[in-house]
Amino acid sequence: MLSIDVFTSGYKPIAAPAQGWDPSAQATWPATTSTLISGEREAVLVDALITAAEADRLVDWIQAKGKELTAVYVTHGHADHFLGLSVVLAAFPSAIAVALPEVVPYAQEQLSQGYLAYWESLFPGQLPAGKPVAPEALHGEVIWLEGEQIRPVAVGQSDTHPSSVVHVPSAGAVVGGDVGYNGIHMWLAGTDAEARQQWLAALDIVEALRPNLLVVGHQAPEAPVDDVAEILAFSRRYLVDFDIALAAAADAAQLIATMTATYGKLGNPYTLFASATAQFASPQ
Ligand SMILES: [Zn+2]
Repeated sequence: MLSIDVFTSGYKPIAAPAQGWDPSAQATWPATTSTLISGEREAVLVDALITAAEADRLVDWIQAKGKELTAVYVTHGHADHFLGLSVVLAAFPSAIAVALPEVVPYAQEQLSQGYLAYWESLFPGQLPAGKPVAPEALHGEVIWLEGEQIRPVAVGQSDTHPSSVVHVPSAGAVVGGDVGYNGIHMWLAGTDAEARQQWLAALDIVEALRPNLLVVGHQAPEAPVDDVAEILAFSRRYLVDFDIALAAAADAAQLIATMTATYGKLGNPYTLFASATAQFASPQ
């Protein structure tokens, strides 16, 4: 029987919000999770955050649990879920870092100069020092932990494509990457209406796994992980409502106003700003 513990980064100020953001409001990056799946002596981590400081705190948190880390699984190729890998692997040198084979090229792309410069502009001086590390392709379909299965499941589209979740049958848990969101605005900047339809199908895949716990990549720090039906229902509602609001909106400001009327209590308003402005941006 494996157990699940969740580390949440909290919201991080970002130094270079996209053009049009009200400079009097502090833009923040959504709170991000890293999940430890533990057996008696060993553990597997899912996703590894981005800044050096939060990766250091994550390492302390894992070490305090007294487990030997054998692997880090990366759910999708966005750097805010894996640039902390170099810090984690330095602390646990025998651990391997893996992702689905189709995710690996996207993770590697995030280590290009252009992408690293983008992330550095958001978090100046805060990225881990030294050479960043991308996950390698997972061989086979299962990560074994003390005789129990940890099963990556490809789901296609989330806030990026390709994406995956992790099913932990013995814990009744799914660690959902960015497929679901919990108590926080959903990052839709990289999606269009068609991608959001595919995203709804990804939520169906998660539901079919019938988890009792659903940990998602971005959740408000206080958000419960055991109300799976609500996390799924919320994520679906938000995607559908966003497209309804988008169809009726003349510009990003209107879209933000409509969404805020329903979802104003959610964490990280900057996410909604980025999602809305991206829909109206002229193609490059
Ligand atoms: Zn993310």
